[in-house]
Amino acid sequence: MVRFKRVLLKLSGESLMGKQGYGIDAGRLNDYAQQIKEAHEMGVQMGIVIGGGNIFRGLSGSQKGFDRVKGDQMGMCATVINALALSSAIGAIGVKSKVLTAIRMEPIGEYYTKWKAIEEMESGTICIFACGTGSPYFTTDTGASLRGIEIEADVMLKGTRVDGIYTADPEKDPTATKFTTITYDEIYNKGLKVMDLTATTMCKENSLPIYVFNMDVFGNLKRVLNGEDIGTLVL
Ligand code: UDP
Repeated sequence: MVRFKRVLLKLSGESLMGKQGYGIDAGRLNDYAQQIKEAHEMGVQMGIVIGGGNIFRGLSGSQKGFDRVKGDQMGMCATVINALALSSAIGAIGVKSKVLTAIRMEPIGEYYTKWKAIEEMESGTICIFACGTGSPYFTTDTGASLRGIEIEADVMLKGTRVDGIYTADPEKDPTATKFTTITYDEIYNKGLKVMDLTATTMCKENSLPIYVFNMDVFGNLKRVLNGEDIGTLVL
């Protein structure tokens, strides 16, 4: 029994670089594509938002003297590069996908609308949403919250490199313990760094649950969809 009918999967651009310091690691990209194929074969409708941090982030650009809005636009272009790479990798293993962009850029991708996305997902095509929200000063986590809410996803699956939300950073504090479930308010009150506050607030206000799990372990996406409790549920 599959746990969800329609999901929004958020992948960070940073994870795409694998062990490289920059860009796209072909092994990691193919690993993600295979996991997405497994999920697709389970009959789950999927929308994917991918970040761009492996290529460019507006905020770090502005610290180096770039105009913030232009820097964010560069960051949004980075998400398009990643979306095209993911679409290509998924296509290479026989799964149909479509890149929908929040900023018009045909023929690279089609301009996003909720109804186009739902129609595509219902016919078995995976939708990859590029450019985040389409506006500067936002992140792709907020883009993922927005798209997740719009497409009426049952959950936002946030694929990260840790296996859930901890009381403290487990890479720095060996006494940190993992939450199985946690509320949005606890995230604010405990100052936990799960997503930026705008993204968390959007999920809270629109009752979109978030499931944080380690996407870098092969097979985990399928495990989550099968109902295995390997991460942390926020609701
Ligand atoms: N970005 C933006 N508006 C959005 C989404 C993203 O301006 O709605 C820009 C922003 O500069 C951000 C960059 O795109 O730093 C890459 O996205 P993000 O940092 O969220 O990528 P990730 O951390 O997931 O790799």
